[in-house]
Amino acid sequence: MESADVVIAGGGIMGCALAYQLAKRDVDVILLERETLGSQSTGRCAGGVRQQFSMPANVKLQQLSVRLFENFEAETGHPADFRQLGYLFVLTLPQQVEDFRHNMEMWHSLGLTEARWVDATEAARMVPVLNVDDVLGCTYCPTDGIASPADVTSGYASAARRRGARLKEGVEVVGIDIGGGRVQGVRTSAGDIATRVVFNCAGAWSASIGRMAGLEIPVLPYRRHIAVTGTFPGVPRSNPMTVDFQTSLYFHPEGDGVLIGMSDRTEPPGFATDVNWEFLEKMFEQAALRAPALASAGIKTAWAGLYESTPDHQAILGPVPELEGFWCAAGFSGHGFMQAPAAALLLAQLLLDHESEIDISPFAFTRFAKGSLVLERNVI
Ligand SMILES: Cc1cc2nc3c(=O)[nH]c(=O)nc-3n(C[C@H](O)[C@H](O)[C@H](O)COP(=O)(O)OP(=O)(O)OC[C@H]3O[C@@H](n4cnc5c(N)ncnc54)[C@H](O)[C@@H]3O)c2cc1C
Repeated sequence: MESADVVIAGGGIMGCALAYQLAKRDVDVILLERETLGSQSTGRCAGGVRQQFSMPANVKLQQLSVRLFENFEAETGHPADFRQLGYLFVLTLPQQVEDFRHNMEMWHSLGLTEARWVDATEAARMVPVLNVDDVLGCTYCPTDGIASPADVTSGYASAARRRGARLKEGVEVVGIDIGGGRVQGVRTSAGDIATRVVFNCAGAWSASIGRMAGLEIPVLPYRRHIAVTGTFPGVPRSNPMTVDFQTSLYFHPEGDGVLIGMSDRTEPPGFATDVNWEFLEKMFEQAALRAPALASAGIKTAWAGLYESTPDHQAILGPVPELEGFWCAAGFSGHGFMQAPAAALLLAQLLLDHESEIDISPFAFTRFAKGSLVLERNVI
């Protein structure tokens, strides 16, 4: 029977980043992906990377992730196409302004001193298509930006393979073997693998991996849409990622066009990923209000993928005490592309050194049983 020190279930950005960080520390690791690497949520995401969160632990995680994105090519030998265009959060309600004033104080206290307020006039200069009639203020962080999900995933995967990790595509995890109160192995569509540590990196499907081990991992799938327009010079390549916080509408330059997304907050959980064109019409109605010029931009392509949401919109990182050897790196609630680089480094440290350079206990699985949930409010 094949064996490994660690088996990773799921080959999105999280699984690939973790395979790299473990292989770099000479851990013998097998990653199993039932489709192809990065083909699910990771391959359908908008590539946004930001530090402007409401929970301090997310800000600290993201400060580390931004450093890792900046150094990605030096570290892995592959480009990340990380472009620090900044993120502009557009605020239109007094309560949002108050909340983001608190956020801004917290960001500065954590060393994110480049984040700053931008008034409506300056916002209109930064984003020429923006309608600022009802804008009360914005926050802007110039070190935020966008990166290429395909490049980052394949960069981590190649670098992990070079260090000896075995990454297998088309292999499905179908069961977890438990004995003596701990993980003993993984059953797959291609045979059994003996291991004492399993990482659940199955994104929107994490709950099903949990059920294989008799655990309830509270992650639900939610469909989210993206449309990309044809050539659109009104949103230049330097345009920041712009987020209309009230409606969740966001857009950033993508090639010569614009990538536009918005969450349908009324849609119940489900695994469907076909495009709901009626919802896309609603999205373009919102776009016409916030950035009227976008209404005339034709759709070149559109797709949908899944958010993997937890009850508090925070990731689940670390060991699950109910079952020795079962670890989670899942439930990123729509910000897993940007969080995976830091999460992977810190989880490797926690596994091998029993402590991590940034405390990730706020993301512990045990918070659900304790009922100590702190909602991440800056979710798009
Ligand atoms: C439209 C959209 C826009 C987004 N925009 C952003 C953004 O701008 N920035 C950001 O940070 N995040 C964004 N996200 C969220 C981001 O895509 C996810 O948080 C992230 O990709 C999660 O990575 P993952 O590796 O955990 O999951 P995935 O990429 O989904 O990988 C999990 C993998 O597990 C595999 N798997 C499942 N079950 C099994 C099994 N039994 N055996 C083997 N393999 C299995 C799946 O096939 C899948 O490939 C967006 C998501 C969507 C849908």
